[in-house]
Amino acid sequence: MSSKLIRNIGQLITNSERDLGIINDAALVIEEHKVVWVGANSAAPDADESIDALGGTVTPGFVDSHTHAVFAGDRSKDYVARMTGSKYATGGIKTTVAATRSASEAELIKNTQSVLRKCQSQGTTTVEIKSGYGLNVESEVKILKVAQEFTDETTYLGAHVIPIEFESNRNGYVKLVKGEMLQAALPYCKWIDVFCDTGAFTVDQSRRILNAGRAAGMMPRIHANQLTRTSAVELAIEVDAASADHLSASNDADIEALASSSTVATLLPGAEFSTGHQGKLGRRLLDAHAQVAIATDCNPGSSFTTSMPFCIAAAVSLLGFTVDEALYAATAGGAAALRNSDIGNLAIGSRADIAILKSPSYVHLAYRPGVQLVEKTLKAGREVNTWQK
Ligand SMILES: [Zn+2]
Repeated sequence: MSSKLIRNIGQLITNSERDLGIINDAALVIEEHKVVWVGANSAAPDADESIDALGGTVTPGFVDSHTHAVFAGDRSKDYVARMTGSKYATGGIKTTVAATRSASEAELIKNTQSVLRKCQSQGTTTVEIKSGYGLNVESEVKILKVAQEFTDETTYLGAHVIPIEFESNRNGYVKLVKGEMLQAALPYCKWIDVFCDTGAFTVDQSRRILNAGRAAGMMPRIHANQLTRTSAVELAIEVDAASADHLSASNDADIEALASSSTVATLLPGAEFSTGHQGKLGRRLLDAHAQVAIATDCNPGSSFTTSMPFCIAAAVSLLGFTVDEALYAATAGGAAALRNSDIGNLAIGSRADIAILKSPSYVHLAYRPGVQLVEKTLKAGREVNTWQK
């Protein structure tokens, strides 16, 4: 059984139940893909191999619990339009749907590897990936098959928007999503998600779709209150969704309801950054003691970022997080949103998913926005340069 020591760690973030569990001047030992020892650098045991962290910071690998990473095409024109005054709406998704439908599985695999390689270089070790740019049986299955090559955290999002061919038969599309399309998606996904919002799916349609997924054995999550406030948060709690995501238009009652539920509130600072939302939403949720995650929402329309460090910086500057809270939400919070306590922390026995930073403190993640601070990413104890499942 080979062991690996990471030594000379200036600041080690282990994440306890409540806080970052910081150990200064630390070391960590990995065996069999897991963390087996953490403690003072001066007391570190011998190991077969060692990595010198050179006084840098070591954190759990980032858990990006909300992405739409499998797609084709480019939406930079939408971005320019939005930055010059157009409001974000759901229409642009259709552009990506057309490009993704016509892309081959091989092209999508190539695109996704390229996107995830960038995630990995920024310290991400787990990604959730949603479908939702196919919107017909064949293309949704194609996307989920590709997603499954890269992660076990795959999510069926047939209910992303209503495709053009069903615009005058919206309930017909809902029937397809919860019927034939869901059955075809089932072998390739763990989760089911619905974009419950104006221009997408109503609360009643969302309820029917999520319940059909649950009956088939998928676990629910939901896009809630991004553009307008509906009773999507109530629905999330009703169906025991692991996570309610976006939440930008939520009111105080929604926040209170989330705080007293087991549904994680996942905020998407990259989307908030590029759609111009503000209002310290993170502070409101954290003050109410809700369980909070942050994720990239990596998608070609509203948030084409692969960088969790950028999202940490944006969570601090736009959403009212402290740096501690943002790092915790990007690691342990994301793990909770995927209901997986084996990742997002570096406690003894947890998976050795690790980011080694060049900086002397984790604070630099927010303090130096846009700067490449991740020196190495380890997944299950192994250094990785391309994305591997
Ligand atoms: Zn999304």
